[in-house]
Amino acid sequence: MKLTHQLNVIEQAGTEKEAENYQFRQFLYQQNSADIDVIVHELDAAITPQVDCTACGNCCQSLMINVTPVENERLASHLQMPVAEFTQQYIETSLQGDMIVNTIPCHFLQNKCCTVYEYRFQECRTFPGLHLPDFTGRLFSTFMHYGRCPIIYNVTEQLKQRLQWQYQPADTDS
Ligand code: SF4
Ligand code: SF4
Repeated sequence: MKLTHQLNVIEQAGTEKEAENYQFRQFLYQQNSADIDVIVHELDAAITPQVDCTACGNCCQSLMINVTPVENERLASHLQMPVAEFTQQYIETSLQGDMIVNTIPCHFLQNKCCTVYEYRFQECRTFPGLHLPDFTGRLFSTFMHYGRCPIIYNVTEQLKQRLQWQYQPADTDS
């Protein structure tokens, strides 16, 4: 399968296909979640190895990253900083009371690469999460990144084809 890698093309599609993707999400909500997972997992397994994240880094520029206390301590230790100092410098508490990285883009991103890769947080490791169950339960958050993440973009476009789904634009004449 031919993939699209150009970030500018994907970003433009994110804008131009907003209505189309909204309609596709409504369609997906009505499908059997387990059946969709089988296809998404297959597409993800085929597409993700072909995408070079080091040429992108878009998730690190746009995600709000939750951090667990264990991850906080582990990265502080790696950077040879006291935990309190590390926390003050890099972490804040969200409105929901969770620990989050206090800047977007992330502090640890340099030239599209993670400078603490071995110690990155679980949320960084999991994104975009297309290998997880219940894809249709996460459509809103996944499609938020359609125009930024080449993996999500290509899996979505291939999924439309596999399901033989066609966009039906609203009839603007009536
Ligand atoms: S810790 Fe690394 S992988 Fe995670 S958001 Fe920051 S730069 Fe990206
Ligand atoms: S946005 Fe997607 S393709 Fe880009 S670095 Fe993140 S996971 Fe990789």
